[in-house]
Parts: sequence; structure tokens; C-alpha cells
Amino acid sequence: MRIDFHMHTQISDGVCSPSQLLALIRSAGLAYWAITDHDCTEASQALRDQEGAIAACELTAWDEDDEVHIVALGIDCEHTGLQDFLADIRAARRQRLRQLCRWLTDVHSLAVPEDAGERPGSRVASRSHLAGYLADQGLVSSRTEAFTRWLEDRHLRALPAAAYPSVQEVTTAIHAAGGLAILAHPGRYESLAVVTRILQRGAFDGLESRHQRCSPSWRQDLDRLISQGGLLASCGSDFHFPGHRQVGDPHLSGPAVQPLLSALQDCPGTWLRA
Ligand code: AMP
Ligand code: MN
Ligand code: MN
Ligand code: MN
Repeated sequence: MRIDFHMHTQISDGVCSPSQLLALIRSAGLAYWAITDHDCTEASQALRDQEGAIAACELTAWDEDDEVHIVALGIDCEHTGLQDFLADIRAARRQRLRQLCRWLTDVHSLAVPEDAGERPGSRVASRSHLAGYLADQGLVSSRTEAFTRWLEDRHLRALPAAAYPSVQEVTTAIHAAGGLAILAHPGRYESLAVVTRILQRGAFDGLESRHQRCSPSWRQDLDRLISQGGLLASCGSDFHFPGHRQVGDPHLSGPAVQPLLSALQDCPGTWLRA
């Protein structure tokens, strides 16, 4: 049985429409899956009646110098408090991206318009959109180069902190909407000490123990955190567009995924029933 609890559509920073993504989900043969667009739930809601769907979202938080991504699984997308909370994060994103465009213009002399982090059809301002703009303008040879040169978290430490909510506020909002709070792609942080610090900041139910950029040694460390902390193991491809990552890869299967599936049975935003 394959699951993928981390994928994006064009409504945040992916390229597929919800129905195009559904076709990829079906050809990958996923039993259960979740669309986790950044800070918006429209795609997840559009496919809510499809077999195997889990209502979800990837929320943006801030901790010290780090942007932290937290996947919410099984949420009630109609929860007013959650939707208000997401609207505030989207406003903070817009402000952050404008600040970033001004910084590229003033400090790096790139003449980037303030709305270069926006894209028609997307609900969120994003560094992905800004990277696309810089590549389209020929200012970099690829979106990856835009991140490597200017947009990665390590470069942005020169800017004031973003106005994203704290990790604690995000996990509280997820729980209020009936969902599970899962730390996204922990293998992307610079050390296990940072992951441990972030886990202590909020009330996490689990973490993604399998992710594209997760080395074998990270996997061992994350498996240990899961067993020691009584956490749920989740996984997802973080799929954004075809040719980059594959839907359903990497994945957990068998006994490793059962605790998460059991916990999801009690959540409002899931069609998963025993
Ligand atoms: P944002 O959501 O505005 O914080 O931008 C982060 C998004 O950019 C991630 O969700 C990824 O989709 C994309 N991205 C691509 N390469 C990188 C990178 N090197 N570091 C961070 N984000 C990246
Ligand atoms: Mn993304
Ligand atoms: Mn993420
Ligand atoms: Mn993601």
C-alpha cells in the first residue's frame, strides 16, 4: 500500500491543476494521499470526495532564523479559525515576498518589481514564483540557481524576521481544526539539534521520516526521534512538477504507516475508515 501525504498544485507553488495531480495519483496507485498546498486548502477541498483523500495543508511558521513548514493532516477545511489563520499567513507571505523583492533591487541591483513573488492562479506569494521570475528574465539560468544565489534561507538571515506565526501557534491552530501536526521534511534542517529544538517548540504529532533529500543517516536519526518521542511517521514526495520528484516516492508502507492511518481515522478531514 502506497501513501503520499505531501504534494502541491498550481494553487500554491506547483504546476499541476488539481485534476492533473489526481491523474498522477491514480497512475501511482496511491491508497491514501494528501494535497498539502502552502497555506491554502482549495485544491484539497476540490478533491475531497475522491477515494483515498485526506484533507491537508502545509503551513508556514517561524522559529528563530528558520522558516518552518508544518503539514496539517485530516483537518476540517471549513473551520473558520483555521481559514482566518491561513489568510493571515498568506498576508505575511505577501509582505515577506515584497520585502525580498525590494532587497534584491536595493542590495543586489536586480530591478525586481515588488509583485514578482506573485503568480496568476496561485493563492500564495512564494519564493518559487520569484525564482521563476528571475529565470524568465534571464537573471539566472535556472530556478535552482536563484535559490542558490539569493533565495535560500541562509541568505535571508540578512533580512528582518518574517511575520509568520510561531511553531506553537501553528500546531495549536491545526489541533483546533481537528488535524495532526507533522513536521515537514526535517532532513532539510542543518542539524538534528535544530530539528529537536523545533519539535520542542510546538505540540507535534509526527514528522516526515522519508523525504527526497533525506540521507540514510538522517533516516536513522529521524526513526530514533519517532520511537523515543512517541511520534507518528509520515512521508511524502513534496511533488511540485513532473520530472523533478515523483508522486508516491519515497514512501512508507506496511507496519510503519499503520499508527498514522489509525490516528487519521479520528480526524474530521478524512475518508479513511477502518
Ligand atoms: P516559500 O514557500 O516562499 O518559503 O518558498 C519555499 C519554496 O521554494 C519551497 O516550498 C520549495 O517549493 C521551493 N524551493 C525550491 N528550492 C528551494 C531551496 N533551495 N530552499 C528552499 N525552498 C526551495
Ligand atoms: Mn513549495
Ligand atoms: Mn516545505
Ligand atoms: Mn511542500
